[in-house]
Amino acid sequence: MYKCGRCGAYFSEPIIGEMEQDTGYTPSMCPECGEPDDYEEADNCVVCGEPIEMGEELCDDCKEDVKSLMKKVASELGLDQDGMYNALTWYIEEEL
Ligand SMILES: [Zn+2]
Ligand SMILES: [Zn+2]
Repeated sequence: MYKCGRCGAYFSEPIIGEMEQDTGYTPSMCPECGEPDDYEEADNCVVCGEPIEMGEELCDDCKEDVKSLMKKVASELGLDQDGMYNALTWYIEEEL
């Protein structure tokens, strides 16, 4: 996945343009807006698979989902931050 630096669209492969005869330069373009050579690699949300910016783990929607679920778990179990961390660490090691 790639993200266009101009229009912000995500796409799987850029469109390869025609090679310029005199320079041998071949532009690769955003399929949405046609901007050449202005895109960077993107990641996918680990939860829903939506494309997201490189270096992120989750998309904004899933971040909100995870946050509210975790808050619910923490408040139901009456755990503070350390308690949540220990409980999650235990769960990941034991159950996943
Ligand atoms: Zn674009
Ligand atoms: Zn997501």
